[in-house]
Amino acid sequence: MVKKIALLGASGSIGQSTLQVVREQSRRMQISIACAHRNSKALFDLAAEFKVPAVIVTDDQLKASLTDVPAGTKVYFGESELLRILKGTEYDLALNAISGSAGLTTTMAVLETGKTLALANKESLVMAGHLVKVLQARHGSKIIPVDSEHSAIFQAIGSHPAKEIARVHITASGGAFRTLPLRDFNKITVEQALKHPNWDMGAKVTLDSATMFNKALEVMEAHWLFDLDWDQVSAVIHPQSVIHSLVEFIDGSLLAQMSVPDMKLPILYALSYPERHHSRLVKTDLAKLATLTFEEIDPQRYPLFYLGVEAGRRGGLLPTVANAANEAALRLFREKKIGFNGIGELVRQAVETEENVANPDLETILSSNRTTYERVISAWQ
Ligand code: NDP
Ligand code: MG
Repeated sequence: MVKKIALLGASGSIGQSTLQVVREQSRRMQISIACAHRNSKALFDLAAEFKVPAVIVTDDQLKASLTDVPAGTKVYFGESELLRILKGTEYDLALNAISGSAGLTTTMAVLETGKTLALANKESLVMAGHLVKVLQARHGSKIIPVDSEHSAIFQAIGSHPAKEIARVHITASGGAFRTLPLRDFNKITVEQALKHPNWDMGAKVTLDSATMFNKALEVMEAHWLFDLDWDQVSAVIHPQSVIHSLVEFIDGSLLAQMSVPDMKLPILYALSYPERHHSRLVKTDLAKLATLTFEEIDPQRYPLFYLGVEAGRRGGLLPTVANAANEAALRLFREKKIGFNGIGELVRQAVETEENVANPDLETILSSNRTTYERVISAWQ
């Protein structure tokens, strides 16, 4: 059977890696829907190559200016059209690789159809994990993780029941500044922060790796994806990024999933699940790996990791507040209005001042996301 895929965030880093997977696996997979926010060039190029019948440009201000639409492709504009098409069109699986909080509404739309969601957009679970669980239960939809750590955990758990899992250990590279002296943190430039030592990723997740806020988001993601208590999710620095995470079982055994760091592997697994397909895309030469090491996460170097996990534990609106403040702070950092240490300070201020609401509905979450973001930005105008 050929799997029909809706590729959301097709122009981004995960989107483009997904295209490499589909190119190799073209007898088994095809793209039937694709979207991007503004990068219509990438969208139309892939529509022409993969003969995609429907594409959506979610920034509808581009409507008037677009040309070069490939023959055989219909173009739609705006987020509401994307949600309508996701709910009303035939496909087998949607891969959500939209970056940041913008991916939440698409996650909800796919889950409402009962279809399978391959999820790269961790922010959906961070902001609305409790609502995602309700939708999954109501519509019987399945989530297959794409994030490499969660793909590793998903693979290592296999068919073991929850009662046999003691905890999971999420690995972290430590990002761009693992060994930089703390006294030099106030001199970090945007260009330095955008260089990841191991992974080739989009800008936001690369910056989040440098602060390790990304790992806090991933602790929350694991809590929701695998129904784990907070004390069952731990994180450890593993600078080589070869062990993508580990599951510790109640008998003391640890199962890890390994490969050289390349997102094409977790993407391929999510798209081929429950099968495994033959592929030449990612090969690991064990003899070349030399050493695998592990370190604790230093709270002085990575305050945003601890702040983020604490927001996750407290729950309600706080994960949304922390995430929105972080998105705003990253924008200010990239615009060179604040320094690297300022990112953590702005997130801390937002978490300490914004009001928390227990068990928020979608509207409250989206509104808090918007207002927190705007408040952090406007304080610097
Ligand atoms: P990129 O920034 O490279 O790509 C983001 C994609 O989302 C682009 O297609 C972009 O379109 C689209 N987009 C941006 N803003 C909006 C919006 N407001 N509405 C709709 N679409 C939008 O991100 P990545 O591919 O790096 O990451 C995507 C997700 O996957 C993130 O949640 C990230 O945390 C997660 N992830 C990424 C990994 C990686 O290796 N990159 C690893 C693990 C998880 P346009 O190009 O037109 O702006
Ligand atoms: Mg990850």
